[in-house]
Amino acid sequence: MAQILGRHIRPCPSCDFEGVHVKQNEGKLPYTHCPDCGLMCAAKNGQQAAGLLRNTRANKIDQAAPPPAPPVAEKPIVVPPEVAALAVPTPAPAPAPAAPAKPAGLWDSLMKRG
Ligand SMILES: [Zn+2]
Repeated sequence: MAQILGRHIRPCPSCDFEGVHVKQNEGKLPYTHCPDCGLMCAAKNGQQAAGLLRNTRANKIDQAAPPPAPPVAEKPIVVPPEVAALAVPTPAPAPAPAAPAKPAGLWDSLMKRG
């Protein structure tokens, strides 16, 4: 799966979308992908890849950072324990029924084996 390295400093040449993704698959050269119009442009050699990465803003999203906290509401939503107890847990899925026995074929019915 492609990992987003950052955003290209120039807009999409097709639709002028700002923030074209610069992505890279493991072991492959980076490429640009416009999430708006879908235009993709792959680096074909190391020189193109170096130029592409030179014109890329680093991804500002820190993957190791904790998820953002929800905004503080003026009147927070509090679920009383008696209401939370009414929540029905999702039952475990029932096991799949066994496959029906294979109907006896002509040979089996003639040989009285099925
Ligand atoms: Zn585009």
